[in-house]
Amino acid sequence: MWDEVRIKIPEKANHIIRTIQAAGFEAYTVGGCVRDSVLGREPEDWDITTSARPEQVKALFSHTVDTGLQHGTVTVMVEKEGFEVTTYRIDGEYEDSRHPRNVTFTPSLREDLRRRDLTINAMAYNEAQGLVDIFGGMEDIERKVIRCVGSPEERFGEDALRILRALRFSAQLGYGIEEGTRAAMAQLAPLLSRISAERIRTELVKLLVSPHPDYLRQAYACGITKVFLPEFDKAMETQQRHPHHCYSVGEHILHSLCEAGADKTLRLAMLFHDMGKPSVLTIDEEGLTHFHGHGAVSARLAEEVMRRLRFDNDTIHMVCRLVLFHDYGNGVEPDRAGVRRAVNKIGQDAFPLLLEVKRADILAQSEYRRAEKLERLGQWSRLYEEIRAEGQCLSLKELAVTGRDLVEAGWKPGRELGQTLQRLLELVLEDSERNVKERLLEEAARYKEGKPSEESNH
Ligand code: ATP
Ligand code: MG
Repeated sequence: MWDEVRIKIPEKANHIIRTIQAAGFEAYTVGGCVRDSVLGREPEDWDITTSARPEQVKALFSHTVDTGLQHGTVTVMVEKEGFEVTTYRIDGEYEDSRHPRNVTFTPSLREDLRRRDLTINAMAYNEAQGLVDIFGGMEDIERKVIRCVGSPEERFGEDALRILRALRFSAQLGYGIEEGTRAAMAQLAPLLSRISAERIRTELVKLLVSPHPDYLRQAYACGITKVFLPEFDKAMETQQRHPHHCYSVGEHILHSLCEAGADKTLRLAMLFHDMGKPSVLTIDEEGLTHFHGHGAVSARLAEEVMRRLRFDNDTIHMVCRLVLFHDYGNGVEPDRAGVRRAVNKIGQDAFPLLLEVKRADILAQSEYRRAEKLERLGQWSRLYEEIRAEGQCLSLKELAVTGRDLVEAGWKPGRELGQTLQRLLELVLEDSERNVKERLLEEAARYKEGKPSEESNH
């Protein structure tokens, strides 16, 4: 039925397959690359599965790396490009829903495909035999469904990460989840508590940057977020009664995710931007909800959760900065000095992203005064572009006076010098015309003599 499926295997991968076949073994491309090829997506890497044992594979190629011999994987190098070649295997008992206690090699391709998580990931292909699709992967692609190979309870019980993988593929492809698979996800979600933070983080990020980040809603509905992101459950359960809002905190977050570009930092910032709201909720006499100081609380929560999920420091710092400042300047008519101060405070690297965070936030709120909010954001962004185009000073880096200049003018290195530079910067942020070395040195000299600045009253 799928005889006509033809996949263009890269020459180097094909060379490996042919070499293994010429030695009397079977070899196929398998898994993600077959799925992505069928879907017309560019595969990230081409994995090869073979009936040959690792030592037999190694004997056939001059350059190999022992990547995971105990799991049957050898990396074959072809002109500096590596291809993972894995022996057909059956995964043994799983000790902890994480690692197979042992793997057994098998001569049967069918057995190897059967141990894989989803039907769409359990297809193999080579030029001689064409597509090998024993578990209905093509049919599920046609119907756009995510389904486990065999019994979903068994598959998830063996490795609970598959629960998140199923969800992530559904979000990446926009597919529904087959009923039995979905029921098993909900039933076995608690097993995710045994999965390492790193593996969970990888899947969460893939879900967030997918075309359907709001499928996190399904994760909530299945009791999945409860296990590794209970903060999100609280957000889903916190209502907002205010003209600016039309959703619960959690639904607002989900909508904001969809409004933000598919960038990891940006989507993480949206995920966390209001996550602290539940803990600062107050209700006024009119029954309206308020969340004073939620930016700072959300930033602290973001840091806590991201540390727990073992995110890297750079990502944590950037996301927390965006979360902390996501409401900065709201309701303020911006002028150039205000924008310069904001950029300096928030950081030039973060500022363009902050504008995107704000835009996504607005678009996920009610339509109340939306045009006005967007107009104001437009002003911020126009002024920012002008300031940048003119190359105006936005940080100490661009100040016309450096610490060295001050030292040459007789200042001692130290705290006072630092404070002086900061004061000069503030003057320049206020009025970019002042960014002239002589003027700033004069100003610094006045500070030193303890005389009031001639410009400090501006
Ligand atoms: P992507 O590369 O987009 O994350 P992928 O399907 O290629 O998707 P990999 O982690 O590269 O995912 O794994 C390659 C193949 O190995 C999968 O297609 C699947 O057949 C199998 N596989 C990966 N992880 C699991 C798992 N946890 N349980 C069962 N099979 C898995
Ligand atoms: Mg892959």
